[in-house]
Parts: sequence; structure tokens; C-alpha cells
Amino acid sequence: MNDDVRQELKDWFEFYRELGIEDFYRRAPEQRVGMPKPAELRVEPGREPTPAPTVAPTLAEQKMQLESVRAPAVSARPVMPSQKLSLFEAAAPAPARRERETLEQIREDLGECHRCKLAGGRKTIVFGQGNPHAEVVFVGEGPGADEDEQGLPFVGRAGQLLNKMIQLVGMKREEVYIANIVKCRPPGNRVPEKDEIETCSPFLYRQIEAIRPRLVCCLGAPAVRTLLGIKEGITKIRGQFYDFAGTKALATVHPAYVLRNPREEKILREDFEKIRDFLKAR
Ligand code: URA
Repeated sequence: MNDDVRQELKDWFEFYRELGIEDFYRRAPEQRVGMPKPAELRVEPGREPTPAPTVAPTLAEQKMQLESVRAPAVSARPVMPSQKLSLFEAAAPAPARRERETLEQIREDLGECHRCKLAGGRKTIVFGQGNPHAEVVFVGEGPGADEDEQGLPFVGRAGQLLNKMIQLVGMKREEVYIANIVKCRPPGNRVPEKDEIETCSPFLYRQIEAIRPRLVCCLGAPAVRTLLGIKEGITKIRGQFYDFAGTKALATVHPAYVLRNPREEKILREDFEKIRDFLKAR
């Protein structure tokens, strides 16, 4: 067994352990979660390695076999090899979907949401806005008063600054997609609470999965904590790229923070320049 195969097996064991499965070997083969075998393990003497059979259950199917699957905490750890269950798929609460969802379907599933206490105080659900095929998705914290009024994300002062940054790096607002970790305005613009984020963020994950952007830009600490699981101060970890569920993520400060600290505009600008450079490098 070479080092690559050994490493891949280690990754797989770790992945299943995160799902709470420890007893790979004690189950009868037909009950065993279909753990794909690296091609090398199937090599017969004198034969070339055979590729994995295409009829092998997909990871989504494997997931359905599990009686209870914990939604893994999305973390900034290195992403799993590409054929593994994406963190979006693992986190999504809806029935396993073979087809890629559209944003319209997700919006329809969200409905006139009353899943959490934010529903009581909102005027409008702010689902998200932009290009369904965007290369970049920006994720903020939650709608403010203007957003709640108009039903669109980042349309107030922070939104104007975000627009300015987007234009500064040669993009147009219509080219990107913008959403928040919660879709309803928290009272008095407070930070969304844990239960609200846990209830709402799976819809965001599904939106990102539907769009499959090249980059997710987390605007501010709550977005960074929610999507990347990073609790360190935003000013310490900003400007860095992370692996996030098969895509890249960049952490930066929230435009509202820059409005309160105008001298920090340069760091937001710097991070947006990184976005531009990332998108240019194909
Ligand atoms: N701040 C956010 O985090 N999101 C918005 O949509 C507006 C302001």
C-alpha cells in the first residue's frame, strides 16, 4: 500500500468517524457503509488497477443508509477528496437530492418560514440576490432595516460599501451572489443567535451548493464562525483563504465594521484585491 492510498484510507476513516461510525469491520458486509476502496486495493496480480465501479453507491446514497447522521460542523480543516459527501450535502436537512437543486426550489422550500423566532419580527425574508452561476458568493450576517424593508441583501449603507468594493475590483453586483447566514432581520440588528443560525444556515449551504461558486467570501466574524468554524478574531484571520466544502473561502471584515472604522477600508480593499487575483488565476 503506498503512502497516497494509506493517506486516503486515513481520510476515509476520519470522515466516517466524524459521522459517528466506528465499527467498520464488525458489521456484516451487506450492512457495512459502502466505503469505496482505493483502486490499488482491487489490483489482482498481473493486472492494472481497475477503476472504482460506477454502480457503487454514491456518497449521498451511503448517507441515506445511515440511521442518524450528525450534521458535521463545517470547519476550516482541509476538504475531503472530491468524491466524498460534500459538507453541504451532509448539512442539508432536506431529503437527499440526486439532482442539483435550483435557487428557486430552495426558495420554495423555505416558504413563509416560521422555523425560528426571527420570523416574528421580520417584515420580509431576505433570501439572497444575484447571479445563480456566480463565481463569488458573499455572505454577511443578517438583514438590517433597509434589507428587511426591501427584501434584498446589502442595500443599506453597508451594501453601498460592498458595491463599491465589488466595482473596485472590476466586478458588477449582478455578477456575484449575496446572502446572509440568517434570512430575517434580528431585532435591533443584534448578532444572530446560535439556534437561529442553526435553523437558517442549512438553506444558505444549499444555496451555495446550488451556485457552486469558485469562492465564498465571508463578511465578518459571524459568517466566518458559521461557515468556517473559526472563532478567532476576524482581524487576525482575515485576508486568508480556507478550504470550504470543496471550494475556497476568504474571510474578511464586514463592511459595517469599516463604516464604523473608516481607516480600515484599506484592509477590505486589500482583501477584495485578493478576490480579484484569485478569480483571474484560472
Ligand atoms: N449587513 C449584513 O450582514 N447583511 C445585510 O444584508 C445587510 C447588512
